[in-house]
Amino acid sequence: MSARPTPLRGPGPQLRPVAPPGTVACPACARRVVAARWEETLGVCPACDHHARVPAATRAAQLADPGTLESVHTAVDDRDPLRFDDGVPYPERILAARAETGATEAVVTARGEVAGVPAVIMSMEFGFLGGSLGSVAGELFARACELAVAERRALLGVCVSGGARMQEGIVSLAQMARCTTGTSMLAAARLPYVAVLADPCFGGVTASFATQADVILAEPRARIGFAGGRVIEQAAHSKLPDGFQTAEFLLAHGMVDAVMPRHELRVGAGRVLRALTGAS
Ligand SMILES: [Zn+2]
Repeated sequence: MSARPTPLRGPGPQLRPVAPPGTVACPACARRVVAARWEETLGVCPACDHHARVPAATRAAQLADPGTLESVHTAVDDRDPLRFDDGVPYPERILAARAETGATEAVVTARGEVAGVPAVIMSMEFGFLGGSLGSVAGELFARACELAVAERRALLGVCVSGGARMQEGIVSLAQMARCTTGTSMLAAARLPYVAVLADPCFGGVTASFATQADVILAEPRARIGFAGGRVIEQAAHSKLPDGFQTAEFLLAHGMVDAVMPRHELRVGAGRVLRALTGAS
């Protein structure tokens, strides 16, 4: 499980440009925006400032310095530990997610520079079974950490996930421990890890590597938590405060370090990484 990463250089199957022709409808206000303009605003609605979800590969490209991004393809065999079938066999759901997103799993890895700092960029694909943390996704995250240690790079991780992957049951929960071995390796090697929490970030991802970073950034109004608000209300028999589980609420309560608009992330994360690495 902990074998060294087997990177393949060049554009791999995990990265593909996303620029649908025509227009894009803002998921929040339904305003239609010309695709080129939508790409220019990094998937943020110019009318209502909604930070829409963007594919993992696009995220990586948004964060890396131009011309420095290089896909890392790590081969990990698909797993189906429970032989799960809820009407559609789990392996078929994986194949469908792969066809739909172009990503091989919910975790996409790339090398790149961020504000001149060599980094491994880990980006989660929400379109891939809700960005859920299955055993392959966990292994890919851990290997991204191993790659960073092997090459003395920082880790910049974009966390967007619904949480555990139900098709893998307890095996999915075990990934919190597997991912923590990765972040521990970074800490032991004194390499910085900056996380960007985007909407939504929940469950086992929030409970492990999303909140284990040295510095935690979040996008405006991103929903971040462990269990969903409705579940907590039912369990606690009390009404939750306004704005509960938003990036701004968590900032006010010390759970995130900064809320940063998407167009500031490359420079902002880069500034943090430079400070942490002591780069001038
Ligand atoms: Zn909008």
